[in-house]
Amino acid sequence: MQVRLLGTGGSDGIPAFYGNDRVSAHARKVRGKEMRTRSAALVDGTLKIDLGPDTLCQLNAHGLEARDWTAAFFTHSDGDHLCLSELQYGLFPFVECEDLEFTIYANETVCGLINQRYPKWPIDLVRTYKNTTYLHEGYEITPVEATHTVGEECHNLIFAKDGVSFLYGTDTGVYSEATFEVLAGRQLDALVIECSDGKYKTPYVGHMDLAQCVEVVGRLRSSGALRTGAQVVTTHHTAGGDLTHAELEEILRPYDIVPGFDGMVIEI
Ligand SMILES: [Zn+2]
Repeated sequence: MQVRLLGTGGSDGIPAFYGNDRVSAHARKVRGKEMRTRSAALVDGTLKIDLGPDTLCQLNAHGLEARDWTAAFFTHSDGDHLCLSELQYGLFPFVECEDLEFTIYANETVCGLINQRYPKWPIDLVRTYKNTTYLHEGYEITPVEATHTVGEECHNLIFAKDGVSFLYGTDTGVYSEATFEVLAGRQLDALVIECSDGKYKTPYVGHMDLAQCVEVVGRLRSSGALRTGAQVVTTHHTAGGDLTHAELEEILRPYDIVPGFDGMVIEI
């Protein structure tokens, strides 16, 4: 399985949209891995995870085509993960397609927003529920519940195929006991997990700072959710967290955690 991180930034990216902070200034100067677009990923070139406002630039930056997707999976409805206006470009009259050619898997809130914006449009929409496994083109996809936006069942996503499995955990917050139990013993081969708040714990419960990220990864390892030696990569970093990519590399190294970057390819 190959996972390509298309974006590894939080909701306002790095450099942040309006940011005059140290991390944004550093990114503007150094560029490269310090630049972070809104979080998104692609599994084996065909399974798209989230569709944020940077999708077009991410495709073009990496020479990718949306026509290779067979499905798009959504974690939740926040604007950095769901950009509704982009969906119309997969349909007539923008292109000759009479139906949207990839299936959308999403929670009740995202499905509702798509139906509201595009009533009766030819979109294959599958409503997903936590702890339920969906089959798509030989993959088993299982959403588990994240601790994020109140009033919406936010999903992290397990992808499994041919004995290999991977958890995409953005906008996780610290998992509930129920989610830790669901994940225990899964022996996942890789994890992508958010580290949004960096150095600073914020009052918002839907994201994790560095210490919480390390703690959650430790618990996933000790509970057997991750197999021994499983790759762990971070995403959804914010400038407000006050850590550059280079600093994250140093800080996370002792924990066997690698900071993700835009364009990173993870071979599992
Ligand atoms: Zn987000």
